[in-house]
Amino acid sequence: MRAELEGELRALASRGVTPGLAAVLVGDNPASATYVRMKGKACEETGLHHETVRLAKETTQAELLALVDRLNADPKIHGILVQLPLPKQIDSQKVLRRVAPAKDVDGFHPENVGKVSIGDPTGFRPATPFGVQQLLVRSGIDTTGKHAVIVGRSNIVGRPMAALLLQDGPGGNATVTVCHSRTREIKAVTRLADILIVAMGKPEFVTGDMIKPGAVVIDVGTNRVDDPATKKGYRLVGDVKFDEAKQVAGAITPVPGGVGPMTITMLLFNTVQAARQWAKS
Ligand code: NAP
Repeated sequence: MRAELEGELRALASRGVTPGLAAVLVGDNPASATYVRMKGKACEETGLHHETVRLAKETTQAELLALVDRLNADPKIHGILVQLPLPKQIDSQKVLRRVAPAKDVDGFHPENVGKVSIGDPTGFRPATPFGVQQLLVRSGIDTTGKHAVIVGRSNIVGRPMAALLLQDGPGGNATVTVCHSRTREIKAVTRLADILIVAMGKPEFVTGDMIKPGAVVIDVGTNRVDDPATKKGYRLVGDVKFDEAKQVAGAITPVPGGVGPMTITMLLFNTVQAARQWAKS
C-alpha cells in the first residue's frame, strides 16, 4: 500500500506539492514517543515532509492551542496529529476540535466524524479502523452480509469501525454489533461473529472459546506486559489470546505486526488525501 502512494506523490510533486505531516507530542509517555517516532520514520521512507513538535508535560492548554493554530496556518503542513493521551491539565476534545478539519488526518474532529458517519469520501477515516477495513479488503475477506462484532466503543477505534463496516461499498455492508463493558454474556455475542474485531486494551481477554470456528479475528489491542526475560523488560500482547485463538480462527492478525503497521500506513494515505484536497481547493 505504501508503494501505491508513490505514483500519487509523483503527481503531487509535479504540481510543486509535497504532503507534510506535523506530529505533536506533549509529555514523555514512552509508548506515545514510540508511535510518533514510527510515524516520522514512515513519512521519511515514503517521501512525505514531516515535523515533530515536542512539548513539555507542563505545557498549558493555551500554549498547545496556539501551536495548533500555527500549524493550521502553515502551508507546508497538510496533516496534523496530536498524539493522545494528553496531560490531564489539557482538555483533549478542545484541542482536537481546534485542528482545522481539512488537516485533521486522524479523523477526530466532529466534522470528519460526521462525514465518515454519512459516507462522505472527503472526510478523514480514523487510521486504525481504516487500516482494519483495508486489511480485510486486501486479504480478500468479503464483509458483505457478514456479522461483524466489535468489542470496544472508543471514539478512536470501536465507533468509527462500526461506521465503516456499515457503509455501502467495499469493506462495508456488514451487520454490525458493538460490545462494551456493560454488554451482558459477551462470550455469547462474540461467538456469533463472522468477523471479530477486538479493541479493548485488556491483555489476552478474548480466549479461544469466545470465537466461532473459522471466524476472522482482528486484534487491535496493543498492551505492554511485564516480562523480565526481555531486554526492554516488557513485551507487547494483543487483546486476544493468540495461541488459543489461532487454533479456532480462520484468519487472525498478530500483535505486534498486524493492525499497528496498517494504522501508520493509513495515516500516510490520509496525509496524501489532505494534500490532494488542498491542492484542488
Ligand atoms: P479505550 O478508549 O480504553 O476503549 C476500550 C473499550 O473497551 C471501551 O469501549 C470499553 O467499554 C471496552 N471494554 C473494556 N473492558 C471491557 C470488557 N471487560 N468487556 C467489554 N468491553 C470492554 O481503548 P482504545 O483507545 O479503543 O484502544 C483499545 C486497544 O487498542 C488498546 O490496547 C490500544 O492500545 C489499542 N490501539 C491500538 C492501535 C494500533 O494502531 N494498533 C490504535 C489505537 C488503539 P466502555 O466504553 O464501556 O468503558
